[in-house]
Amino acid sequence: MLKRTLSPRNISYKSFFKNKISLSILIFSLLFVLFSIYLITHNTSYKNSIASNPGPTSIDENHAVSENGLKKDSSSIDQNTIQNERSFNNANLITDNRGVPVLYYHSVRESADNEVTISPESLRMQLKYIKDQGYITLTLDELKNYLLNSSPIPEKSIVITFDDGYMDNYYNAFPILKNLNMVATIFCITSDLDGSYYLSKEAIREMSDYGIDIESHTVNHPKLNQLTYDKQLRELKESKETLESITGKKVDSIAYPFGDFNDDSVKAAKDSGYTLAFTTKRGLSDRDDNILKLDRIYISSKYDMSTFKEVLAQTKK
Ligand SMILES: [Zn+2]
Repeated sequence: MLKRTLSPRNISYKSFFKNKISLSILIFSLLFVLFSIYLITHNTSYKNSIASNPGPTSIDENHAVSENGLKKDSSSIDQNTIQNERSFNNANLITDNRGVPVLYYHSVRESADNEVTISPESLRMQLKYIKDQGYITLTLDELKNYLLNSSPIPEKSIVITFDDGYMDNYYNAFPILKNLNMVATIFCITSDLDGSYYLSKEAIREMSDYGIDIESHTVNHPKLNQLTYDKQLRELKESKETLESITGKKVDSIAYPFGDFNDDSVKAAKDSGYTLAFTTKRGLSDRDDNILKLDRIYISSKYDMSTFKEVLAQTKK
């Protein structure tokens, strides 16, 4: 048994040695080839990195650093590094919590003798003044990203809003906004969207397509704080769904009618999927506000230009 088993072992031992030598040569050759390939490719890519990288990359980096990442030069950085954010031309950008004025108007037409109806000419003068002062109008998404994510916005940012959604907003305010290249938000009451008093669905769609934010002001404009939670929820949900079905865009902001709300309103706003809610309390919208109780600035049609300028300049957080 032993001899029989030993002799085959000796034979295989010899051939094993032979195989081992040739295997070593093979492995050594393979390692040599791999090492050569590594040297060649590493050297080339290293040369490439010297040749190309320091150029545009480091210039862009230096540029960004020299601008503190705040002031963006639209010619070199915007398209490449700032994504999903509007190019704010050459505006000085800020991220700190100084806040944003959110103006609110209502009806825009001639001569009604009430303070919530401004003449188209007065509105045009006020918006022109805002533009001449270097303000840039923000969408509510831009305001939201500034408040929630500290996204940069122009130092002189402003939000223009109109409550109730009157049909005259389309006839009288929309042409002025287009002419001045501004955006704005309309908080719509959704009970009668037939174009007779409140906006028509067609007008809403056209303005939304242009870039006007169409947001909610409830279905029936009730004093929310006098309703049960369930009724409030219905007002908030139904108006949201109606507007979303017209614009095809998400409605995630609401202005409380009359600025009246209670804890249930805030809960209902959250529960029905709103992110921002606006009151009528005077102040800038900033991160110290509850995001569902944001301050705004009322603009009465009784204000002359100097009062308007004063209100805009002196409203604080
Ligand atoms: Zn209202």
